[in-house]
Amino acid sequence: MGDALDADVIIAGAGLTGATLGLAVASAGLKPILVDPQPFDAQVAPTFDGRASAIAFSSFRQWRALGLGASLEPHAQRIEQILVTDGRGAGAAARDPGGAFLRFDAAEIAGRTPEEPGEPLGYMIENRRSRAGLAEAVTRAGLTVLAPASVAKVEFGRALAEVTLADGRVLRAPLVVGAEGRGSVARDAAGIEVQGWSYGQSGVVATVHLEHDHQGVAYEYFLPSGPFAILPLTEQRASLVWTEPTRRGEALRGARDEVFHAHLRRRFGDFLGHVEARGPRFVYPLSMQLAAQLVAPRLALLGDAAHAIHPLAGQGLNLGLKDAAALAEVLADAVRLGEDIGSLQVLERYARWRRLDNVAVSLACDGFNRLFSNHNPILRAGRGAGMALVNRLGPARRFFMQEAGGALGDLPRLLRGEAL
Ligand SMILES: Cc1cc2nc3c(=O)[nH]c(=O)nc-3n(C[C@H](O)[C@H](O)[C@H](O)COP(=O)(O)OP(=O)(O)OC[C@H]3O[C@@H](n4cnc5c(N)ncnc54)[C@H](O)[C@@H]3O)c2cc1C
Repeated sequence: MGDALDADVIIAGAGLTGATLGLAVASAGLKPILVDPQPFDAQVAPTFDGRASAIAFSSFRQWRALGLGASLEPHAQRIEQILVTDGRGAGAAARDPGGAFLRFDAAEIAGRTPEEPGEPLGYMIENRRSRAGLAEAVTRAGLTVLAPASVAKVEFGRALAEVTLADGRVLRAPLVVGAEGRGSVARDAAGIEVQGWSYGQSGVVATVHLEHDHQGVAYEYFLPSGPFAILPLTEQRASLVWTEPTRRGEALRGARDEVFHAHLRRRFGDFLGHVEARGPRFVYPLSMQLAAQLVAPRLALLGDAAHAIHPLAGQGLNLGLKDAAALAEVLADAVRLGEDIGSLQVLERYARWRRLDNVAVSLACDGFNRLFSNHNPILRAGRGAGMALVNRLGPARRFFMQEAGGALGDLPRLLRGEAL
């Protein structure tokens, strides 16, 4: 057994959600230790994670409140509009925005003037930029990060949890947070079961340079093979999430550049001029996974360790960031009241706060994917009528925009942009 290191919270996983929680609890005076097999400098390389994420404006407010504003703002592309179509080729919505199935416009949810443009629908940020911003803030705050190191075993005692790392070191704290993604060791150690299924689809992710400006518009085309999203990035670029059945996704990853570009042109069209893929392509197998519980004595689950969902609505990370804000607030309040932060009594407050939203969003994304990723003409007619109705009803559209932006419900302080 190695030396015991003590902390208030041991966070297994220093990814986007784990690092955010680390900063949040530290801002409330708690001492976290972050553990991750990936050193921070490897996590920020362009080859580590080619994804860009749609960050809801409330999630972005939290990052600003935690001191990441200056490092992220230059790389954050405002999303001004989202156009959604069903089955029609790419570009159809751009040529005829009124004919889009669903049209969300930031101008509708904010009292905007030219001087005060108000909140956008969200921001697109490359994950490597968010990781770099978080790594910088974590270092600046002087948090202890053990990386490379991985959690191998977790035992839950009456007063403390004991974490054994793969290299034999042992850490103890009143609370362990499982933020290690889908294969959470801490979750398994607590015997928490997961339910889920594979979609038989993969998300092919690539960054493209555009000849014409995207003007902050995000496009989502629901095609029978799966959704195809063109998401605006800074520097006249876009991030593509191109969903295909798994075998075709793998073929696209391996395709020669000319072949990939030929497929891309057919899918994308020419409404944004010449489009050129830059950098590596990434392929992510898509599945859904929900943990049966969010907490157990001395354990809380966060992010993909608790709920991994289909990316079609860009909500997975946002759910995890909401988890981080809620958990940090529950822990900060418990410390002020002199409570044991690892007790089930305290952790149940976090579970009650987050359970419904996590399950509702996960199932909604699953349902949307089933409804749209098929050729069934009856479903197609039904979804067309439903979406057209939502599009015509201003209040329904505004509800969806506020919900996706994370502006509704009982928001944790950090998501309102306030300190803990
Ligand atoms: C194609 C695609 C596009 C997406 N787009 C969006 C989007 O636009 N918006 C959005 O909100 N979400 C999006 N998502 C979802 C989002 O990427 C995930 O929800 C998010 O990355 C989850 O973050 P996490 O920190 O919980 O887990 P992860 O990112 O999986 O991080 C887990 C961390 O734990 C570490 N770890 C693993 N094992 C151990 C161990 N034993 N001990 C210690 N550490 C360990 C890993 O190294 C890693 O750093 C998308 C997903 C996909 C696949």
